[in-house]
Amino acid sequence: MTGSARAAQAAVPSVDRVIRLAALRPLIEVHGRAVVTTAARAALAELRQALADEGEAALDEAGDDAVVARIADHVAAMVAPTLAPVFNLTGTVLHTNLGRAPLPIEAIEAVAAVAKGASNLEFDLKTGRRGDRDDHLESWLCRLTGAEAATVVNNNAAAVLLTLNSLALRKEVPLSRGELIEIGGAFRMPDIMKRAGCKLIEVGTTNRTHLADYAGAICARTALVMKVHTSNYAVEGFTAAVEVPELARLADEKGLALVVDLGSGMLVPLERYGLPHEPTAGEILAQGADIVTFSGDKLLGGPQAGIIAGRADLIARIRRNPMKRAMRVDKMTIAALAAVLRLYADPERLAERLPALRLLARPVEDIEAVASRLRPVLAGPLAEIAAVEIVSCQSQIGSGALPVDRLPSVALSIRPAAAKRGAGAVLRRLTQAFRALPVPVIGRVQDGALILDLRCLEDEATFVDQIGLLAPGEAGKA
Ligand SMILES: *Cc1c(COP(=O)(O)O)cnc(C)c1O
Repeated sequence: MTGSARAAQAAVPSVDRVIRLAALRPLIEVHGRAVVTTAARAALAELRQALADEGEAALDEAGDDAVVARIADHVAAMVAPTLAPVFNLTGTVLHTNLGRAPLPIEAIEAVAAVAKGASNLEFDLKTGRRGDRDDHLESWLCRLTGAEAATVVNNNAAAVLLTLNSLALRKEVPLSRGELIEIGGAFRMPDIMKRAGCKLIEVGTTNRTHLADYAGAICARTALVMKVHTSNYAVEGFTAAVEVPELARLADEKGLALVVDLGSGMLVPLERYGLPHEPTAGEILAQGADIVTFSGDKLLGGPQAGIIAGRADLIARIRRNPMKRAMRVDKMTIAALAAVLRLYADPERLAERLPALRLLARPVEDIEAVASRLRPVLAGPLAEIAAVEIVSCQSQIGSGALPVDRLPSVALSIRPAAAKRGAGAVLRRLTQAFRALPVPVIGRVQDGALILDLRCLEDEATFVDQIGLLAPGEAGKA
């Protein structure tokens, strides 16, 4: 340390003195003494480092005002929630990393209502006796799927695990090699089978599986027959798969249950809203499946949950599994899911009221209009560094629903000026500047441009209000 640095160190105030500064009182009132003290320690350590590095040159930083400002910055960083809303302009509507389905207001209000205090979660108000938390959902699920019974767990991965563990423990489960899926986040069918305590019997080949393959695999050790929706890929070309009706007949003949993991799963035909067909839970049960499992927050458009619906005797066995207790949903999930299921009772207005479906079915002219309004808003501030153009693009449904179908959409393409050297660096800074906004904007980088797919942009006012903060000067520095 230089003499100047040593002298400068003496200028660092103590935490005790700083914490008594009048200017810190408002911060302490809002955030509490503990938070502000922790922030003060961090701020003073930083200051000490600056003085050691820069000597007297950093002395300005040791004044009370500068110290208070530094502490305020630390407090702000400490108390900012790490989980916060973003604009999902990636073009993937049900984006797993961005929280999947946006909830309808009805669900949000229902969550708030039960979150506040006590509720009849497991209490029968008519008899005054203990109730079952499934009661709030089961009749709706049965009505909407045609199932005899239904139960709900934390997510579809849990639904599959619990179903297999309840119905096939220490027994064999034949599954087509073409359906040995891996969903993101280490959900792999062979591993799930192992953890569920059952033995996977692979049948058929990657591209072709026939009924005889299943028939040949069924023996005394077989617990059930399983079919899994290949939700995030498609096998194309010379292919064959056994559809549910045929497989159900075989399972029935052998006295076995057919379990179908639908992945996304839907409750109403999507064609009705101009979207590609996705098998509905009701359709698959009607075709002879004994149990279907599907997610609450994929196409269904609700909260994270796993729904298990089908034959009453099988659902009863699943409910009795002690593991069910470890996977049960909380009151907020139940409130949200029940509110979403109620919206399904009126399919005519569903596309208006259910945000996930509204975004998926959004007319392309609508998205085009958003693009026309927003292009000048972005083009102005970014004029020096990038060209902003309206381009057509393709959105995806996401979350492994209809993996090969694309929805025509419209995007703003933000492309760093071509002639400029270091266009790649400019692009990186731009995407980072968008991510640093109060409500971060997440797009996708494609062919040297930042693409903002506007399908999922509904709150234009908030988007526009923060564009002034983009600091294009910063973004432009290559
Ligand atoms: C998404 C998916 C799962 C896992 O569902 P989560 O709700 O994410 O747990 C399981 N199986 C299939 C076929 C899926 O598509």
